[in-house]
Amino acid sequence: MLVRGSRLVGRPDRASSTTPAEPPTPLRASPDDVSENPVHEPTASTFDTSPIVGIDEALRQDAAADDPGAARAAQARAHEAAAEVLADRGEWRRAYQHLRAAMALVHLGDTPPVHVPEQLRREVDRLRRERAEAREQSRRDSLTATWNRRYLDERLSTLRDGIDGADGTAGAVCVALLDVDHFKQVNDTYGHAVGDSVLRTLVTLMREGIDGPAPDGFCARYGGEEFALVLTGATPDDAVRTCEGIRARVEEHDWTAIAPDLRVTVSAGVCCLGADALADAGDDPTPGALDRVDELLYVAKRTGRNAVAYRDAADRVRLAGPAAGRRGVEAVVRSVREAPRPGRSGH
Ligand code: GH3
Ligand code: MG
Ligand code: MG
Repeated sequence: MLVRGSRLVGRPDRASSTTPAEPPTPLRASPDDVSENPVHEPTASTFDTSPIVGIDEALRQDAAADDPGAARAAQARAHEAAAEVLADRGEWRRAYQHLRAAMALVHLGDTPPVHVPEQLRREVDRLRRERAEAREQSRRDSLTATWNRRYLDERLSTLRDGIDGADGTAGAVCVALLDVDHFKQVNDTYGHAVGDSVLRTLVTLMREGIDGPAPDGFCARYGGEEFALVLTGATPDDAVRTCEGIRARVEEHDWTAIAPDLRVTVSAGVCCLGADALADAGDDPTPGALDRVDELLYVAKRTGRNAVAYRDAADRVRLAGPAAGRRGVEAVVRSVREAPRPGRSGH
């Protein structure tokens, strides 16, 4: 039976390499031996293909090894045969791995093409589709269907590499953190299900708000009632305008369709981050990288909520739109500098 889910998700496929450096393995008598050899059980999602059952190693020791082309052809045939046996038994995942090994060997050189039985071809297509779907699902938030933190981390890593490219291109990407105001009260007053509906509607409003000004941007659920907006391609001014537009859109939305008298507002901080801010983040750039954005979100909260905080060209913290006239921004900024917040919760 096909194994679904996380085993099919993860790092990019490395199957193009058919001869990883592994200790020699004795030839196994039948494809069944795959299951008896935990060392060569493929690890999650990498589809390491060789040596799966010792086929490659055994054939390397064979006389045919003097002729690399013949050795590869023999290896490919062995993998192909193993794939057919396993496919007959309905062991599609293993069959697929052997087929991948055979295909990779064929691509190496003048090895004769591998015959792929129709049934196996169909199953391989299905596996591919399921793998793509599983990959997509693992990057989606289950409540709102927007992107999740994993996707956000991956995209920020990619964007960081892009703006800190080998050609020395300088650049920045504008990122906002947006948090629902007094969301606990929404839950307490109307119930958790209404809170969930609010989050789903909020995602729709954010998407609508991003689509026009930053069509390449996206939103991702950062956690709880907090979302990150990545406004790829937006200038700092565009980014502030976009966030302020979303804030106003949320405030003006008719939430009474979800619950009587319901009103929802959001606060946001928005900041354009250069490669330096996104640097030293390894595979998980968000915690440190978004500190500067988080500080601004904190200022928006502390100065009365329902506001977007940003830094102007002179690096002074400002509030956008109608909140611009509020007092106390400087004092809040000073208090953040003097006593940085220990954690992200409890804005
Ligand atoms: P603030 O304006 O300072 O952000 O106040 P807040 O009440 O929004 O913030 P707080 O951190 O006190 O509460 C956040 C609440 O969000 C608490 C938690 O139960 C709720 N929450 C987090 N995730 C979900 C979710 O998926 N669904 C629902 N309904 N509530 C959630
Ligand atoms: Mg909140
Ligand atoms: Mg919060």
